[in-house]
Amino acid sequence: MSENPFSLAGKTALVAGASRGIGLAVAQGLARAGARTLLAARSLEALETHAAALRAEGCQAEALRLDVADSGAIEAALAAAGPVDILHNVAGINLRKRFLDYTREEYDWLLRTNLHGIVELTQRVGAGMVERGRGGKIVMVGSMMSILGLPYLAPYAIAKSGLAGLTHVLAAEWARYGIQVNCIAPGFIETDLNRAVLQLPEMQQWLKGVVATPRLGRPADLAPLAVFLSSPGSDYITGQVIAVDGGYSTTAVWPFEPA
Ligand code: NAP
Repeated sequence: MSENPFSLAGKTALVAGASRGIGLAVAQGLARAGARTLLAARSLEALETHAAALRAEGCQAEALRLDVADSGAIEAALAAAGPVDILHNVAGINLRKRFLDYTREEYDWLLRTNLHGIVELTQRVGAGMVERGRGGKIVMVGSMMSILGLPYLAPYAIAKSGLAGLTHVLAAEWARYGIQVNCIAPGFIETDLNRAVLQLPEMQQWLKGVVATPRLGRPADLAPLAVFLSSPGSDYITGQVIAVDGGYSTTAVWPFEPA
């Protein structure tokens, strides 16, 4: 282990879904911890802006065009990226509907990005890690839907619990190569993905009752764990699904106060 167990110096990290929200905060955390960080997504202009801001801080950061729903785009991005030591699978989309109302097209659209695209990216990057024999770190971004159920999210939950399953299997399969595979399960984090829903008055009221920590999560709340799971300090941690949810999945709030 290097002297500083949290240092990512000398490593190349690829963050899929780094143009905004959680992925951007993760990429910023990794770059500031010393990794050469490839900020990847479809919105190249936003990626260029964020990478330039990181470079202005003295970090190593580059923009990389990547559409995880397109095999050709994955291949092209990885050819441009070169060897990757740390992969963060943050890219994701969402759709909320009653299960009976989902069309086959909507189901395919969501699964193509949130599950099949991530599986393909992980397979290709993982192949390079196995071949080079220098270990690696893979971090999935799951969801509360990786560990429990909320209504109107069936395809999303299928994808996110699939990522938890993939985490467990790859941890078992690739530990012998020094590759650790873990999954971060964010709770209610305010981003473009869910701002409109989280700001509904009835949702605000509900959140007050069910999340022990009395505020919404922020993308920056995810970054320190993302850095740790990318660092030598986490070399003996693998196959875990770790919630960053202010206590939502592990606590309940009672309508009772002691006298
Ligand atoms: P966001 O602000 O909407 O960001 C989503 C990111 O994914 C963007 O960078 C987007 O970039 C990228 N992306 C989407 N489709 C892509 C594709 N086909 N190829 C490459 N990149 C793609 O959402 P967020 O809240 O930060 O969500 C990030 C991840 O966290 C998602 O997987 C989400 O399911 C998960 N999550 C979020 C919450 C939450 O409360 N916010 C909770 C649990 C889990 P481009 O559009 O530029 O491609």
